[in-house]
Amino acid sequence: MSERPVFRISVSDLADFCCRRGDLNLGLQRSPSAQEGQQGQRTVQKSKTAGYVKEVVVTAEWQQTLFTCLLGGRIDGVLAGDIPLLEEIKTTYCSQQELPDAQRAVHWAQLMLYGALYLQTDPAEQLHLQLCYLKLDDDSVFTFDKLVTADELQDFYQSCRQDYEQWLHWQCEHWQRRDTFLQGLNFPYSEFRQGQRTLSVQAYRDLRDGQRGLYQAATGLGKTLGILFPALKLLAEQRYRQIWYVTAKTSGQRSVLQALDQLDHRNDRPVRVLILSARERVCFCNPGPATICEGQKNFFDKWQSIRNDVQQQSHWNPDQLSALARQHNLCPHQLSLQLVPWADLIIADYNYVFDPAVRLSDYLDQHARHIALLVDEAHNLPDRARDMFSISLEQKALVAAAKTTADRTVKKQLKKVQHYFPAADTPAQAFAEPPADIMPALATLTEHWLEWFARQQWLVFPEQLFETLMTCARFAQRLQRWQPEDRWLCYPDHDTQTLAIFCTDPAPQLDVLTARFHAVLYFSGSLQPLEFFARALSQQPFTQMLELPSPFPHSHLLTLVIPVNTRYDARTRSIPTVADMISAVWQARPGRYLVSFPSYQYLQSVREYLQVQHPHLPLLVQGTSMADTTETFVQHLMETPTLALVIAGGRYAEGLDLPDNLLQGVIVVGTCMPPPSLQRELIQAHFQNAGCDGFDFAFRFPGLNRVIQSAGRVIRRETDRGMLILMDDRFTRQELRQHFPAHWQPQRINRPQDLAAPLLAFWQADL
Ligand code: SF4
Repeated sequence: MSERPVFRISVSDLADFCCRRGDLNLGLQRSPSAQEGQQGQRTVQKSKTAGYVKEVVVTAEWQQTLFTCLLGGRIDGVLAGDIPLLEEIKTTYCSQQELPDAQRAVHWAQLMLYGALYLQTDPAEQLHLQLCYLKLDDDSVFTFDKLVTADELQDFYQSCRQDYEQWLHWQCEHWQRRDTFLQGLNFPYSEFRQGQRTLSVQAYRDLRDGQRGLYQAATGLGKTLGILFPALKLLAEQRYRQIWYVTAKTSGQRSVLQALDQLDHRNDRPVRVLILSARERVCFCNPGPATICEGQKNFFDKWQSIRNDVQQQSHWNPDQLSALARQHNLCPHQLSLQLVPWADLIIADYNYVFDPAVRLSDYLDQHARHIALLVDEAHNLPDRARDMFSISLEQKALVAAAKTTADRTVKKQLKKVQHYFPAADTPAQAFAEPPADIMPALATLTEHWLEWFARQQWLVFPEQLFETLMTCARFAQRLQRWQPEDRWLCYPDHDTQTLAIFCTDPAPQLDVLTARFHAVLYFSGSLQPLEFFARALSQQPFTQMLELPSPFPHSHLLTLVIPVNTRYDARTRSIPTVADMISAVWQARPGRYLVSFPSYQYLQSVREYLQVQHPHLPLLVQGTSMADTTETFVQHLMETPTLALVIAGGRYAEGLDLPDNLLQGVIVVGTCMPPPSLQRELIQAHFQNAGCDGFDFAFRFPGLNRVIQSAGRVIRRETDRGMLILMDDRFTRQELRQHFPAHWQPQRINRPQDLAAPLLAFWQADL
């Protein structure tokens, strides 16, 4: 790297880096919040006598050949004297006997480091170090004391410093290797695809200048490579330290790895790629939610013993990291989290950045300004974010928990919270605010429950009980972050009543979560209408909005619109027309077709009609045993020409990618609008009040996006040819047509008998 990097580290983080040992605590033990910690600290400081100086700042700076390190912190209290006293104040819910040794060792290390730094400006031969714990549930205080010589402190400081310096040295060496490689990296093809260069240049500018971009880049344009290439080039220019590439689905993650392979065929690039996978996907232990597993036991001892080896590897590969975790019996999920600060490219699901329950908040809040955030498949983010920012609590879960829990106080609190649920037969209701007093009731419940849970010393609990506890805790936290766009819902759901905090508009929270990143690029192959997504994703204007059309010849896609009335009350009448049209498509050319329906019931009705009237047609139906998993569904479709009947918006309608022009076409029945519901009505009302067209935001545009997603299955590559049939009279109206992608050139077909001619002409042109 041409400029010497500067690392800033706090004394507490250095102590943690050098001295953390013991088991992994997955946060089930009750521990004070940051706010409780600060408040407790102030309480103890206030109780001190004259001469006690609070918040004494200590710093140190190390200049090394490859980097500069700035170390800093604040000593909670110093009392001058012949032997100065330095105090570190901690808050806890443990008694003196229960306090884990491993935790206390890190606290001591922190105080020892403070001591060494203090002596650099106020020399003394000895220091009195005091660790003071305030037990929050009864306000009692207990302390541990040590007399330590200046030499002991100096030795300790030097040994920690050496460990960390060595680590940073390796990190800088890695960056040098990486940057040399990236600076010499060329685009892997002799030329860019149509539109790809425009995308790459814009991404380069926005990433370089720390902007927010929104790019609609049609399928086949090579957007992953087009954006990753400039992002990596700028990494080598040190515009930021890390790239986070987040996706809605794992298929999106595979595209990033494929793009990396295209950039470096030998696959030995010195770029550390870290995939953050969900715990359940990588876990090799899985002992149940509330027991300590082998992967957690002595996690930090094991991690310390291997981390230098990991740091010296120039290239990380997800399979190698997983094998390493197995070999050392380390929780693979936590291993990847330990590596986050040191990776170059992090590939992860959206929830690591956006979901309050999963987000790596501490790390991102501190380091986002050094990170370029790339959000792929961004058309999924508004709905995913709405789900992540909403939460619900079922009454029946609380009733079951009250029966299972042995603790009387927890039982009592569970019953109190149940009073907030409406009577069984009450219809759905929405309110602008939550009930005034539910917050303290939920907080008390989770507090008692977590305390009781911690006292059980890792006994195995019924999974359901554990899940309910976690949901209550999250619900209480979410309530504390109530937003003006939130609505309080009570609604019956199957056999229970449900309370929910429903986020009508995720944009304000997305803005807050992305504000600190160096740059943010949202992109997708289907962000139409772009203005809708711009508002659905953010309340701030984007610096750059780019709309890049399909790079393939428009003539490769035949688009036909058939004006059938598929509205709910006309569906029964529409069945023969829809079925006959499907049959006509098959007659024109047997092949592989995806036919999407707005509901399962409608799908079944058309299927039954087809089976009676057109029994020769081969049908594959989503949800039947043959099509139960994506793999079996895709395999069947690959092997056998079939009409695959699927539900709009599902994984088959939006995630299918058949190779070799195998998919002849997509038939979309209906406009794919989400069905009416209380939640959709609230979204509509919210956007209407915000000056937008509420119906567009709640129904029309989400539906259109599903249609575009389904249609996008047809032309994936340059050689693909196929047809798209849109069956609904609303597709003939301007309010939808004006938002169709430019490469759709729809022809209207009024009668079933008129369908064969354009289809035959299109397929004959293929011969
Ligand atoms: S190894 Fe598995 S069970 Fe153990 S902590 Fe990790 S994810 Fe959980």
